[in-house]
Amino acid sequence: MYPSRFRYEAPRSLGEAISLLTEGGDEAKVMAGGQSLVPLMKLRFASPELIVDINNIGGLDYHRADADGTLRIGALCRHADLERSDLLRGTQPTMAAAAPLIADPLVRNRGTLVGSLCHADPQGDWASVMTALGGSVIAQGPGGRRAIGVADFVTGPFENTLEPGEIAVEAVVPPAQGTRSGGYLKLERRVGDFATVGVAVALETAGGTVKRAGIALTGVGGSTIAATAAADALAGKVLTPEGIEQAADLTAQAARPRTDHRGSAEYKRHMVRTFVVRLLSRDLEPAERAA
Ligand SMILES: Cc1cc2nc3c(=O)[nH]c(=O)nc-3n(C[C@H](O)[C@H](O)[C@H](O)COP(=O)(O)OP(=O)(O)OC[C@H]3O[C@@H](n4cnc5c(N)ncnc54)[C@H](O)[C@@H]3O)c2cc1C
Repeated sequence: MYPSRFRYEAPRSLGEAISLLTEGGDEAKVMAGGQSLVPLMKLRFASPELIVDINNIGGLDYHRADADGTLRIGALCRHADLERSDLLRGTQPTMAAAAPLIADPLVRNRGTLVGSLCHADPQGDWASVMTALGGSVIAQGPGGRRAIGVADFVTGPFENTLEPGEIAVEAVVPPAQGTRSGGYLKLERRVGDFATVGVAVALETAGGTVKRAGIALTGVGGSTIAATAAADALAGKVLTPEGIEQAADLTAQAARPRTDHRGSAEYKRHMVRTFVVRLLSRDLEPAERAA
């Protein structure tokens, strides 16, 4: 199907883009990679009257770390940039694990992490990764800039808290309180598919104690799920096999899977539990790991 008729603008500055979006109100949409927006328009699930393509705006394609370790990802940083990133491989194990699991190479070459957060698909992998990491989104609009925690930014399936006129210009991961570990595991029916189940785990450990833990889930609820009870149970303690089992149980309880063509709710909940145990057990001494 062809999209409905729309006006297309490709501004060269953020200021111009914000003016266009403000003028367009609810009928205007930002286009970044177009990998989610264009298919929706072709199916006529979205029929914006104005598309503001931000790809001609310079200086948004970065990802970099500040001196204190804060990671910043610009609105035009592609999934493929993150997949190939030495910075991520060296400092962000959860993100580095997720990047190659997003879609297929064609989609990764165009799609953006920030666009994925804005799209707020319950099966989007980045929202759970960023939730586990305690990340935030920087929005810029007519009233200036503001930071929104990812857990507050994604309010439901395909819903975010951006106001008309605002652009998400950057995603931010705060510095770690110690050594980072963790990862992302994704069950998919075939390579490149959306998640049947995805689990993101992010740990920050110092002196043998977990200083901060984050666990979040993809594809097992109406939106990204933060398993806060499980994460809270790990924080402030030394990681033990018993603690891992408890966190896995609490995470499985937080999941809200539904039976569908990808599998039964029971199977998906079981996989959530299994993935949490697998990811957290990597941080145990070899002798403590289950055989
Ligand atoms: C075949 C296929 C398979 C896929 N598989 C996966 C997968 O396995 N895992 C996964 O996570 N994703 C998957 N995706 C989605 C893909 O990751 C998209 O790239 C991503 O969801 C959206 O990023 P984008 O830059 O393309 O955003 P766009 O399509 O340009 O935009 C998506 C939405 O976000 C809004 N938006 C985008 N950027 C901004 C911004 N800076 N400020 C404000 N609003 C903005 C747009 O207005 C639109 O509503 C798949 C897509 C396809 C086509």
